[in-house]
Amino acid sequence: MSDLDLRPREIVCGSAPSPEPEELLLTARRVYLGKTTEVARALPDAQIRMIGAWCFLDHYGPQSVQDSPGMQVWAHPHTGLQTVSWLLEGEVEHRDSLGSQVMVRPQQLHIMTAGVGIVHSELSLADKPPTLHGVQLWVALPNSDRETSPRFESHVELPLLTVPGLTGSVLVGELGGVRSPARSHTPLVGADLTVEPGVPIQLAVNPEFEYGIFVVHGDVLVESTTVGVDQLLYLGSQRRSLGLRSDHGGRAILLGGAPFAEEIVMWWNFVGRSHDEIVAFRTAWERREPRFPPVVDRSEKVMEAPAMPTVHLRPRPRRAR
Ligand code: MN
Repeated sequence: MSDLDLRPREIVCGSAPSPEPEELLLTARRVYLGKTTEVARALPDAQIRMIGAWCFLDHYGPQSVQDSPGMQVWAHPHTGLQTVSWLLEGEVEHRDSLGSQVMVRPQQLHIMTAGVGIVHSELSLADKPPTLHGVQLWVALPNSDRETSPRFESHVELPLLTVPGLTGSVLVGELGGVRSPARSHTPLVGADLTVEPGVPIQLAVNPEFEYGIFVVHGDVLVESTTVGVDQLLYLGSQRRSLGLRSDHGGRAILLGGAPFAEEIVMWWNFVGRSHDEIVAFRTAWERREPRFPPVVDRSEKVMEAPAMPTVHLRPRPRRAR
């Protein structure tokens, strides 16, 4: 997907090693995408900009799309990141400038590595299911790999993590001895966890990672904090296990990773390292330079980049990681 915010701000993000475990409860902010659609954006947050290399988390739906066109994200570019498309309900067609054309469906993982540049579109088709619900995640690429060739990978059968009281899909990295086949460029984990009511769970985690957990349905007691829908609990690092429980059942996205050592600049759909680089990406998209080839086999609408903000970079607050 795209950052459809009509007036995106340029944000400096980084991640600093957090010295200890903590429980910082954050509420995703509502972001209006155009006039009618809104999403809950948990990352970047004013306090916590990244969790490992995870730099963007939008939660959309569940919403009825019976009387609407559904997802209409026309062709747009990305640089310097991976997009992780994860649907909870519904169906969306992805096409990109590599020639990929796939239906994105629940429980099927699609990771697009933009690297030096890619263009894609995501559209609901006419015969779409009635409900749309999902998350959009971005992963920042490290300096060493951020100009890699673009790549699109699909994993339609992910390994499942099953322990008493919990079933999970491991999207990226390893959790509970279950490893995703998806390629990541920094030490990272992402998982979609369904917690049954009334069963206390202890999950082994990596003390060198920082973690956060974002609830998409119901509620989950994480350590000593109850996390509700559209809330992100930042957990810090130095944990060997994570306690989960739910009274009525819940579903949550667990994100973790080694603190991201580099400072990045995010604006619209680009991840770069400086304001000037972002301006150059924007110009390259305006001019349709070869970095951004057309989406194959779809003569479709294209999203133009918004104007660059007149104020350059928002300074990174003291607390922001
Ligand atoms: Mn996109």
